[in-house]
Order: sequence, then structure tokens, then C-alpha cells
Amino acid sequence: MTISNLEESAATLLLRSPRLSVSLVLELLDISDPEFREMIRQNSTLSALLEQRRKGELTFKEPELSACPGCGDWFIPYAAARYCSDECHKMAIIESDRRRSSRSRIVAPFAGIS
Ligand SMILES: [Zn+2]
Repeated sequence: MTISNLEESAATLLLRSPRLSVSLVLELLDISDPEFREMIRQNSTLSALLEQRRKGELTFKEPELSACPGCGDWFIPYAAARYCSDECHKMAIIESDRRRSSRSRIVAPFAGIS
């Protein structure tokens, strides 16, 4: 069984985030332990990265993964983007509009009292 370069670079990218554990990264990418060991053996960037993690030297923050508040998917935010996609952002706006209008309906009966 071979690991694609894509999985390897994805693993390297994800493991740069100090907030993600190795086991979580393997789970996210569906990589088995033997596959991961093989990856480390062949990829010096990855093995150096793991050594850094082990020593707690992982201090740089970029790129940092965020969970999209819309769909819950992990993504790498571009600039200050909070959502993984325009679709999720639009959904969130619709959702907050809906909440705001239902809140104002509840508040409305009291509006005339004061
Ligand atoms: Zn999303």
C-alpha cells in the first residue's frame, strides 16, 4: 500500500498545528499507523516536524486550522475568514437574520409599554 504525496503533504500541514494531536490528524486523513510510520521513515520534513512536536518546539501559528461554525468541517482560514466557504457564510447570515427577526417578534409586544 502506498501513500499519495497529497496525503503526505496534508499530514505535514495538519501536524504543523500544535492544537491537533497526531492521532486526530491520522484519523482525519484516514492514515493507518503502519502507513504513518512508513511516511515518517521516507519524509524527513515530517520526521523533523514530529521531533519538534515531541520537544514542544512547535510555536508558529500559521497556517492554523479552524472548525467552520457553519458545517463543522476543518479548514484553513484565508485571511480572517470564519467560514470554510461562501455557502456556509451565506447560511450563517440567513440563520442570524432569522434568529434576529424571531427575537424581535418576541420583544415586540413589550415595545409599546415603555
Ligand atoms: Zn463550512
